[in-house]
Amino acid sequence: MNQKYILVTGASRGIGRSIALKFAREGYHVFLNCRTSLNELEEVQNKILSMPGGSCTITTGDVGDPDQVRRMFQEIHKICPGLDVLVNNAGISHIGLLIDMTDNEWDRLLASNLSSAFYCSREALKDMVSAKSGRILNISSMWGTVGASCEAAYSAVKSGMNGLTKALAKEYAPSHIAVNALACGVIDTEMNHQLSAEERAALAEDIPAGRFADPDEVADLAWQIINSPEYMTGQVIGIDGGYI
Ligand code: NAP
Repeated sequence: MNQKYILVTGASRGIGRSIALKFAREGYHVFLNCRTSLNELEEVQNKILSMPGGSCTITTGDVGDPDQVRRMFQEIHKICPGLDVLVNNAGISHIGLLIDMTDNEWDRLLASNLSSAFYCSREALKDMVSAKSGRILNISSMWGTVGASCEAAYSAVKSGMNGLTKALAKEYAPSHIAVNALACGVIDTEMNHQLSAEERAALAEDIPAGRFADPDEVADLAWQIINSPEYMTGQVIGIDGGYI
């Protein structure tokens, strides 16, 4: 069997960590990325290396910085000619009124969530087009579909990610590359750890499924989407417990 290669951005914890471990268990060589949390990323690396046949490479870098993304892909090219799968997962949230948001906060949110997907997709697609195969999965949010009060900027960048998904799907379907997005609901990760116990309980009550999702549930769906027929492309697929 040919070795397959995946890059998961933001793989040190949460959804990215679960996706990285899932694909490693399924035999992929996983390129593990994060910006600063190297200790957590090394823990993921150790977990993969302890799996039978598990293989991975750490490629740290700020995926919101095009130079760092170009450097990451130079490192990837030392190991393989190109990726089979790119998962654009890295992201940060911002909660607060739009009128209180600074220029820097907006620039950082945009770079980490949307420019990151643009820069990584641009590099990955060059190789995928040559190979005439590949899969890109963008980890988006239900707020990108319906918008959220006090998360206007976050909603806007996730909408942008959905638009990028649909447009790239059309642009690269002739090259047999499928591009889809996952519109996540509330997933139990560090991103939501600022919520108090009372806020968590109230939020869970609003979700028809009555709970937050485990990141492993997102990873299982990511695996299914990556293994779906190539004809399924340009889709924004919800995993939100019936919330929206
Ligand atoms: P998380 O636990 O906070 O993990 C975020 C990951 O992204 C970390 O590995 C972080 O590493 C990395 N990251 C952030 N900015 C980066 C950058 N500029 N360059 C490289 N890595 C970067 O968050 P999560 O909940 O797993 O979220 C993952 C994705 O799912 C995000 O795109 C998020 O918007 C989306 N999402 C999450 C939820 C939810 O409820 N949790 C809902 C909808 C969508 P460093 O700390 O080292 O930078």
